[in-house]
Amino acid sequence: MLLTISTTHSPATDLGYLLHKHPDRCQTFDLSFGQAQVFYSEATVDRCTAVLLLEIDPVRLVRGKSGFSLDQYVNDRPYVASSFLSVAIAQIFGSALSGRSHDRPDLVTRAIPLKATLSMVPCRQGQNFLHQLFEPLGYTVKTTQHSLDEQFSEWGESRYFSVELDAKIQLKQLLSHLYVLIPVLDEDKHYWVGEEEIEKLLQHGDGWLATHPEKVQITRQYLKRERTLTQAALAQLIVEETPNLDVAEDTHNQEEADIEKSVSLNQQRLEMVTSTLKQCAVKRVIDLGCGEGNLLRVLAKDNFFEQITGIDVSYRSLETAQKRLDQLLLGSKQRERIQLMQGALTYRDRRWDGYEGATLIEVIEHLDLPRLAALERVVFEFSRPKVAIVTTPNVEYNVKFIALANGTLRHKDHRFEWTRQELQTWANRVGQEFGYTVRFEGIGSNDPIVGSPTQMAVFEQSVL
Ligand code: SAH
Repeated sequence: MLLTISTTHSPATDLGYLLHKHPDRCQTFDLSFGQAQVFYSEATVDRCTAVLLLEIDPVRLVRGKSGFSLDQYVNDRPYVASSFLSVAIAQIFGSALSGRSHDRPDLVTRAIPLKATLSMVPCRQGQNFLHQLFEPLGYTVKTTQHSLDEQFSEWGESRYFSVELDAKIQLKQLLSHLYVLIPVLDEDKHYWVGEEEIEKLLQHGDGWLATHPEKVQITRQYLKRERTLTQAALAQLIVEETPNLDVAEDTHNQEEADIEKSVSLNQQRLEMVTSTLKQCAVKRVIDLGCGEGNLLRVLAKDNFFEQITGIDVSYRSLETAQKRLDQLLLGSKQRERIQLMQGALTYRDRRWDGYEGATLIEVIEHLDLPRLAALERVVFEFSRPKVAIVTTPNVEYNVKFIALANGTLRHKDHRFEWTRQELQTWANRVGQEFGYTVRFEGIGSNDPIVGSPTQMAVFEQSVL
């Protein structure tokens, strides 16, 4: 099994500093499952190629195992890219994988032209899957499928491919992509997967897995289709991406086949809020506690909305929101409708007056209960939008989250989570005090006993 990594970055021999392997030497490493050699097939200023040759010892693999199965002796392990290659990458290129280079620290964080070739990759799902895995990460992917036997073309194609990946990327990113995706492709269950595999997946998937379109499939196959582990990993992946664990709701307790099809709860929430604003003919919206701009982005793309303002106390979140809005590449007229302001929801601010609609999406539970009274006055007494929409977790639903220990809240910054009755009691009291009628709806799949994962209260100013 061969993995080659080439660069044309000048001077190309800097690859040796990044990999911590000198281009003039051939080194041998003893691993628990065989031997690895690292050498360079070319090392010039213009082009440098490092080769990792992995020789897996099938006898070592079965040593110590009880029972006999032919499969232990006749298998593809010595010839294909498998999780052994990931182990070798971690052991032999560990510093490069974690982005450390003593001699070229600045080069570690630079995207440089890199090409990786893998001599033999198993892929049962066919070559499209190889493209679906690597292309979203920015690679140009070339694959060559191998026939079962060159001498007997009538036997047809095998499930093995040679793969070439090209990208301008950091070396540590390339290595972490290979580290995670090679075991995903190799469906052999020769190793035990446990909790520590989740940690490795999250560690090496950091920064790219949470947003990968195939993240569910990647997670599932990396964890060898162990459902509980997959659910736990997906829940954690989503926590890293957004502050709300309940986004993972759809992936819980569902048949495997459904997992890919699910629309995230976050998405459903945003759609529900947007359609409610439209039903109420609200064209000027202030999103209070806008965070990183999830709702703002949806509203920004919809020309129905004429003015969109986001408020948050966190400057960092606003910076991210700004960046993500910029990525939408809106025309200047569309862009003018949107503004971001820093502010605290517990203090009156006249800049927030005059909006038709205010939204508080997964925000109230971040306030200490005694501060909630201040927010009530700011929103319902002073700003007085025609419509206000509040969403918050339904704590009754928490029992359905496998990844959530009994009695814990969905996010460490949540000060409280309410039952449906608690939200209704609060909202009805606020409505009465400030002259709003209130209706309630669930968002996400509706369980007959515990209800939906998210609850929504829609306040509309009562007509006098
Ligand atoms: N509405 C967003 C973010 C929810 S997280 C979404 O659905 O994605 C809660 C947000 O409320 C955080 O961004 C936090 O900074 C903000 N927040 C919490 N307390 C606040 C306060 N007192 N004033 C303003 N923003 C606050």
